[in-house]
Amino acid sequence: MTFKKNPLLFLLNLTYSINKTMPKITLPDGTIRSFDNATTPFEIATDISEGLAASAIGARINGTLSDITTSITADAEVKIITAKKGEKDSDPDALELIRHSCAHVMAEAIQRIRPEAKLVYGPAIDNGFYYDISFEESDPLSSEEFEVIEKEMHDIIKEDRPFTRYDLNPKDGMIKLRNEGSKYKIDNAERAIEAGSNLLTWYATGEPNKDWEDLCRGPHVPSTGRIGAFKLQSIASSYWHGDANSDSLTRVYGIAFVHKKQLKKYLKMLEEAKARDHRLLGKKLKLFHIDEQVGQGLLLWTPNGAVIRQELQIFISEELKKQQYSHVFTPHIGKLDLYRTSGHYPYYQESQYPPLIDPDQLHALADEGCTCGDLANLMKAGDIEGYLLKPMNCPHHIRIYASEQHSYRDLPIRLAEFGTVYRWEQSGEIGGMTRVRGFTQDDAHLFCTEDQISSEIIGCLELVKIIFNTLGMHDYKVRVGLRDIDSDKYVGNTKQWDKAEDACRKAADSLGVPWVEEAGEAAFYGPKIDFIVNDVLGRPWQLGTVQVDYNLPERFDLTFIGKDGKQHRPVMIHRAPFGSMERFIGVLIEHFAGAFPTWLSPEQVRVLAISEKSNEYADRVLRKLLDNGVRATVDKSDERIQAKIRNGADLKIPWLLVVGPRDAEGNNVSVRKRGILQDLGAVSLETFAAAIDEEIKSRGEIEALKICFPDDDFPEDT
Ligand SMILES: [Zn+2]
Ligand SMILES: [Zn+2]
Repeated sequence: MTFKKNPLLFLLNLTYSINKTMPKITLPDGTIRSFDNATTPFEIATDISEGLAASAIGARINGTLSDITTSITADAEVKIITAKKGEKDSDPDALELIRHSCAHVMAEAIQRIRPEAKLVYGPAIDNGFYYDISFEESDPLSSEEFEVIEKEMHDIIKEDRPFTRYDLNPKDGMIKLRNEGSKYKIDNAERAIEAGSNLLTWYATGEPNKDWEDLCRGPHVPSTGRIGAFKLQSIASSYWHGDANSDSLTRVYGIAFVHKKQLKKYLKMLEEAKARDHRLLGKKLKLFHIDEQVGQGLLLWTPNGAVIRQELQIFISEELKKQQYSHVFTPHIGKLDLYRTSGHYPYYQESQYPPLIDPDQLHALADEGCTCGDLANLMKAGDIEGYLLKPMNCPHHIRIYASEQHSYRDLPIRLAEFGTVYRWEQSGEIGGMTRVRGFTQDDAHLFCTEDQISSEIIGCLELVKIIFNTLGMHDYKVRVGLRDIDSDKYVGNTKQWDKAEDACRKAADSLGVPWVEEAGEAAFYGPKIDFIVNDVLGRPWQLGTVQVDYNLPERFDLTFIGKDGKQHRPVMIHRAPFGSMERFIGVLIEHFAGAFPTWLSPEQVRVLAISEKSNEYADRVLRKLLDNGVRATVDKSDERIQAKIRNGADLKIPWLLVVGPRDAEGNNVSVRKRGILQDLGAVSLETFAAAIDEEIKSRGEIEALKICFPDDDFPEDT
């Protein structure tokens, strides 16, 4: 979950009281309605239709999300925000109003049960809300209390009390807050005033100065009864102002939606996501291991996971070959000096493993009585030589490019490597495959002329398209990061940037999938393209990027000889479209829920002997498949055949072949396919072997099932 906005923004006041009555209201469809006096969004909605008024819960007034009762005294553009029972996709504004309002209701419920609880912030977030609350250290909140809190919340919602706003000037407001004595709310108010707010605002659920209330900038739904469906989710610890040295707080998370059906759908998605969690599946299917003795965030690819990675690398390499890439290998470390030239050291020091110092130098320094502090200073000043675990592959590839003089005829030069890099992630952020300290990028660096940027980026995107399509990831989008034209942090000239940005746009356009451009999202050295893929549950995953770079060719003084016989500067493109093998395969595990297509499956076929009598034939079947290059095993255990089938299905093996005496007689195998509950029947071993060969070679485009049983139509287990 992420912050939707700075929680402090809730405390800033906005009013629309300009000295003018008879406002003209412009609606989203362009129609204009005039009012004789000051009006409110609710009156506007009523003026349009009773139905609209009944479903209205808020408004955007000149773009600002507002209460439905906000007074409008001047001309304004107004969009009524509605929430209706049963609607499929609710307005994000409606959800935000409901979620934040629900945070109030939760806070009130908690304070009813725990009057000592002190409130801090309660913003809306993706799918729900949270409230940071201070409890007495001796009596922390536990999720076991959720049921009681939820019951109180339901009562408050049933009472359908209005959210009533009232304002005080800063002086009176501060007096009130000091009397109440909550240092957190006093701090919130002081910050709001400092930020320029000329009013302090409270919202009572019910009547001001009588019912429960909270200092809050709003807006909210009209009344508690308009909060649709909610559920409390979890408790986490947080710190006041996000500062670990400050008060520790309890963050209570909840989710909220317009209606129950949406809530149910979301809960089901969460459940499914849990079942697909790559950390759990990684363990169950023995795909990878993280070992305390090796180190946090340093992933060990166990045999099953290594198969998936290898197959994927072969696939990507085949496509790179078609695009005339050249593969290179480079070492895992490089001299500090290399990274001083590239700028990776000392600038990104805090995200790197500490340098390895040249042993001879270290001994000499020790003899001179050099202290740890001296050593650190020497390293900082660059007076000491050593090596760095590479945080990026680019400098090595650049030195390969620079190892010979190139002419324009050589360009573009495309150097690819599954290059492993090391970065020092904060330990709190590490977990599973998606955040690690050593990872292998599907990296490549393209050295080209300015005129070639566009076609090179298109090539990168085509590769992405082929690979996503083969993996059945059809729901993805592209984000083009452009410069912020008001900023002066960018290297390169305007003409270069215009050209490169245009090339990125063109490339994105050629892909035929949705893309957006975002100003200010470029790197300081050039524009970039990011890939965001939605998995089968619709969860977005940011994968890799394609970045244009004017900076490193400059820093390393790279050249090529142009048509004019003079030296020119090449442009560099960094591209790692899938990010890293670790992250990408982590996403794939969840995408496939561990049921990989046959070509990627660590174990593609398992032969199951009905009884000991069939072991010999099972071995013959196995040998045939192994000779054909299929990853197959045989289960000769003493278990009954039903148990063998269950075990194979549990490990998500795509094909199970049951063999008994009759199969042996006819040289047949009885086929079971993952996802189809029934036994499909017998086919000759020759037919099955040829069929699976086709399925694997075509990476699933040709289905073995259709070859083995061309006339049958099997229902899938859904
Ligand atoms: Zn509020
Ligand atoms: Zn790079």
